[in-house]
Amino acid sequence: MKIYNSVSKMKEEFVPLEPGKVKIYVCGPTVYNFIHIGNARPMIVFDTVRRYFEYKGYQVNYVSNFTDVDDKIIKKSVEEGVDSSVISERYIEECKKDMAGMNVRPATTHPKATQEIGGMQEMISGLIEKGFAYPVEDGTVYYRTRKFKPYGKLSHKNLDDLQSGHREIKVAGTSDKEDELDFVLWKPKKEGEPYWESPWCQGRPGWHIECSVMARRYLGDQIDIHAGGEDLIFPHHENEIAQSEAYNGKEFARYWMHNAFLNIDNKKMSKSLGNFFTVREISEKYDLQVLRFFMLSAHYRSPLNFSAELMEASKNGLERILTAVERLGDLQKKAEGELTAEEQAVKTAAEGLIAKYEAAMDDDFNTADAISAVFELVKLANTEVKDGSSKELVDWVKAEIENLCDVLGIITEKKEELLDSEIEEMIAKRQQARKDKNFALADQIRNELLEKGIVLLDTREGVKWKKA
Ligand code: AMP
Ligand code: ZN
Repeated sequence: MKIYNSVSKMKEEFVPLEPGKVKIYVCGPTVYNFIHIGNARPMIVFDTVRRYFEYKGYQVNYVSNFTDVDDKIIKKSVEEGVDSSVISERYIEECKKDMAGMNVRPATTHPKATQEIGGMQEMISGLIEKGFAYPVEDGTVYYRTRKFKPYGKLSHKNLDDLQSGHREIKVAGTSDKEDELDFVLWKPKKEGEPYWESPWCQGRPGWHIECSVMARRYLGDQIDIHAGGEDLIFPHHENEIAQSEAYNGKEFARYWMHNAFLNIDNKKMSKSLGNFFTVREISEKYDLQVLRFFMLSAHYRSPLNFSAELMEASKNGLERILTAVERLGDLQKKAEGELTAEEQAVKTAAEGLIAKYEAAMDDDFNTADAISAVFELVKLANTEVKDGSSKELVDWVKAEIENLCDVLGIITEKKEELLDSEIEEMIAKRQQARKDKNFALADQIRNELLEKGIVLLDTREGVKWKKA
């Protein structure tokens, strides 16, 4: 398997640290709102990477954090007049629902920053002891960037260029830094903000330290793959390397993978341009499987443009696969017998397409080409597997298509979607049951609807419903 490593800017052969095992850390979202479709891209891409490693027989330990202490969360908590944990917990739950809708499997561990403060303080103390960090008078602790000689190896930035230009490096903090390039590890609290006691001041961590600590705690000093969106390369991932490698004295991650950005109608997605969609909004128009299929229709390192036309094309493409699997399911019921000599040729052709799929995925997870191979396999099945085909062939082709789709996280069973009229009918039945004081039946109907993703709201104007 070859993986493009952002450090070497080359595809490299994948060699695990430990045979048969892969340790992956993916930077997760900051939870102050519903996740947007840009955030969905790394979730879907790296979930697919995880699934493909499992398909190849690896045991995967997959860690992805929730950043639950951050300026944006605090801002929202002030606006709503609630504790910042109310905001973060709410959006963690909502994020998990969106992940489930996109068939993104829960990580092995989903650590939260606020639960790891002790570990962060330990690492910061260690960095101070080793001379890689220093506290200043107001209690801020900075990382001494120039002391870490390989700084810039991931982002390919040169320290002197950074010093003279790049506003982005002049991150928050007071002016008593030793050097402009130094970044914050710990900072003093401001009025009304959540804070923790520490040896330096009552305060909270800088953003970068959390990932170094969580990766180490849940995966160890060294990991195989560290991933996230390309905007994280600098400064976030560069700073993670500086922290982890100075502290552990070892190479942090063997491979750094970064997905390119998702744009909308060829423009950067932004609230001010009005071209900003949450996953939840998309789920009102499309099954989220369509969003997933769309995301995988391009290579993860290529920019991807979101548009209504492309989503329609993905919907049709997905439908073609699901219809073919459904037809094979129907054939399965009546088919009999073992593979015939003639059918062997069909099987051989199909095996060639499976090999093509694997070659695409082995080549830095080229899901676009892998999907083309699935389409070819579907076409072969539609033309060569028919009434009178042996059960062995039908079973085998169906299982293979399902298996390849499963690696992409595509569920091949057609979902039973309730029509609005059917929902209304069930609601009427439930109202009648309540009138009859048959509350058990009323509850049963509510639960049945809930299972199909329909939530009932009892309002003064009567019963309303919405999709969960
Ligand atoms: P954030 O909550 O901003 O830290 O982002 C969580 C993840 O989503 C990170 O890996 C980002 O790189 C990624 N991300 C944010 N916006 C986009 C986008 N438009 N396209 C692709 N990935 C994105
Ligand atoms: Zn991170």
